[in-house]
Amino acid sequence: SKQIKVGIIGYGNLGKGVVASLKQSPDMDLVAIFTRRAPESLSINEPNVEVLHISDAEKYKDEIDVMILCGGSATDLPEQTPEFAKMFNTIDSFDTHAKIPEFFESVDAVAKQSGKTSIISVGWDPGLFSINRLMSEAILPVGETYSFWGKGVSQGHSDAIRRVEGVKNGVQYTIPIEESVEKVRRGENPVLTTADKHLRVCYVVAEEGADQAKIESDIKTMPNYFDEYKTEVNFITEEELKSNHSKLPHGGFVIHSGKTGEDNNTQIIEYSLKLDSNPEFTASVLVAYARAAYRLNKEGQTGAKTVYDVAPGYISPKSAADLRKELL
Ligand code: NDP
Repeated sequence: SKQIKVGIIGYGNLGKGVVASLKQSPDMDLVAIFTRRAPESLSINEPNVEVLHISDAEKYKDEIDVMILCGGSATDLPEQTPEFAKMFNTIDSFDTHAKIPEFFESVDAVAKQSGKTSIISVGWDPGLFSINRLMSEAILPVGETYSFWGKGVSQGHSDAIRRVEGVKNGVQYTIPIEESVEKVRRGENPVLTTADKHLRVCYVVAEEGADQAKIESDIKTMPNYFDEYKTEVNFITEEELKSNHSKLPHGGFVIHSGKTGEDNNTQIIEYSLKLDSNPEFTASVLVAYARAAYRLNKEGQTGAKTVYDVAPGYISPKSAADLRKELL
């Protein structure tokens, strides 16, 4: 049996992705999946994995090394991460940008007390993109960094619109504005407002009798998610949503263009992702960082962490000595 025992809290897109990713991991085993729904109502066909109600998680305190939290950022994680950091090392993908500092503080207090390690806001953005922005800016302090997302379904934003009163179902696409991308790629270092960079296009299935004008305005004015963007809201049927909007592709890029030396040489760094399945990719990032949480905890590095605090070697299944042989 493998070294690191893992549990999953919440079985949505991300939870399913974590199950798939753990099968590709050489050193981690999935012990149990915990859900708020009736466990027998989930069709999970994993003979060696227990499917249990979330209230049973506490009993696994000594059997699970890391709990991967797969709930939504809007309302699940602000409750679940501080609660489970009392008992487990945790990983989550909290992505409500404006609330990350206060979320960090609430998790840090609990994890320091319990002696656990909680890596928060893991994924690709926040996550891998954050690391690439930080590296670019540290290396080329004279320059500009641009992040573009899409075209793709944003999980966080889709989750947020599904929680609006009167909404039955919905999907949100983030679409980069082409002209702006081209300016950046030409090294023009343009000044771009939030609305200059991306459109947010929503496809919404309303509940019967719901007030569509109110739904549209509730979405467009939602703080942190939509209020700063050009947002389009389209009402469609459940059938249309199923046939035209059921895949979850995504991607994007971080471009930094900097200047160095007396000749003012231009230095461009670009990092890009093209994802057929955003949740399967994000889940794979969570699994790699679960390994890091386990190791940091063994070393006594407790409390809340972000990807900035985790050295890259910690996410690799290889030892530090083996990695040194692969530096070049
Ligand atoms: P889902 O809506 O699919 O799942 C969220 C939770 O809802 C689940 O944990 C599950 O909890 C519950 N749930 C799922 N399906 C159902 C259902 N059919 N009926 C009732 N409840 C259900 O969200 P995702 O997995 O797609 O995304 C989770 C979060 O991941 C997003 O909110 C976003 O914040 C984050 N994310 C972050 C990224 C990053 O780069 N940092 C990238 C992508 C996503 P339970 O089993 O307890 O009922």
